[in-house]
Amino acid sequence: LFITFEGGEGAGKTSVLQEVTTKLKQHGYKVVTTREPGGIAIAEQIRNIILDPTHTEMDARTEALLYAAARRQHLVEKVIPALSEGNIVLCDRFIDSSLAYQGYARGIGMDEVWKINQFAIDNRMPDLTLFFDIKPEDGLKRIGQNENREQNRLDLENVTFHQSVYQAYQILLDRFADRMIVMDANPTLNIVVNNTLHVILEKIKE
Ligand code: C5P
Ligand code: MG
Repeated sequence: LFITFEGGEGAGKTSVLQEVTTKLKQHGYKVVTTREPGGIAIAEQIRNIILDPTHTEMDARTEALLYAAARRQHLVEKVIPALSEGNIVLCDRFIDSSLAYQGYARGIGMDEVWKINQFAIDNRMPDLTLFFDIKPEDGLKRIGQNENREQNRLDLENVTFHQSVYQAYQILLDRFADRMIVMDANPTLNIVVNNTLHVILEKIKE
C-alpha cells in the first residue's frame, strides 16, 4: 500500500505522518516512512539544490525536472523495494505536489508537469492520497510559530502563491477523486492523527 500525504505549508503533514507511523507499527504493520523531495541520499542532495534560499535564479522548468529526477530515484531506490517487501509506504508529498506547485502555481501547466512525471514514475501512482486541508493563511501562520522549521526558497513566496497552490489541490481532488481524500487539518494534532489512522486502517481492510 502506497500512501501519500499532500497539502500546503503548515498543514501538519510531517507531524501527522510521524505519529501515524508509530501507531501503525503498534498495530503490527510494517511501515516505511519517507519524504519528497528526498528520502535517499541522491534525492536529498537534489532537495538541497532546489530549496536553497540563495537560488533565486532557478528556472521553473529546471525546478520541475529536478523534482521529477529526485522522485524517480526515490521511487526506484526506496519506495518500490519497500512495497515489494510488504511494507506500507507513507510518503510526505509526491506527484500531486509537483502538479500543484510547479504545474499550477509556477504556471508551467499541470499537463506539462504530468508528462515529465509520467516519464519519471512509470505509472506507479499512490493507492491513496490524503490531502491535509487548511486555509493557506492559517497554514502560514502555523509555520511562523514553528522555530524549528528549516528555511527554504518557498518562504520567499507570498500568500498569493500559496493560495494558488491551494486552488490547484482543489482541482486535483476533483480530478483524482478515486484516490484522494480530504483530511481536516484544523483540529489539534491528536485529533488529526486519529482521523488519519482511521482512514488508513479502513483502506488496509479493503
Ligand atoms: O513538505 P516540505 O515542507 O518538506 O517541502 C519543502 C518545500 O518544498 C516546501 O516549501 C514545499 O512547498 C516545496 N515543494 C515544492 N514543490 C514540490 C514539493 C515541495 O515547491 N513538488
Ligand atoms: Mg512538512
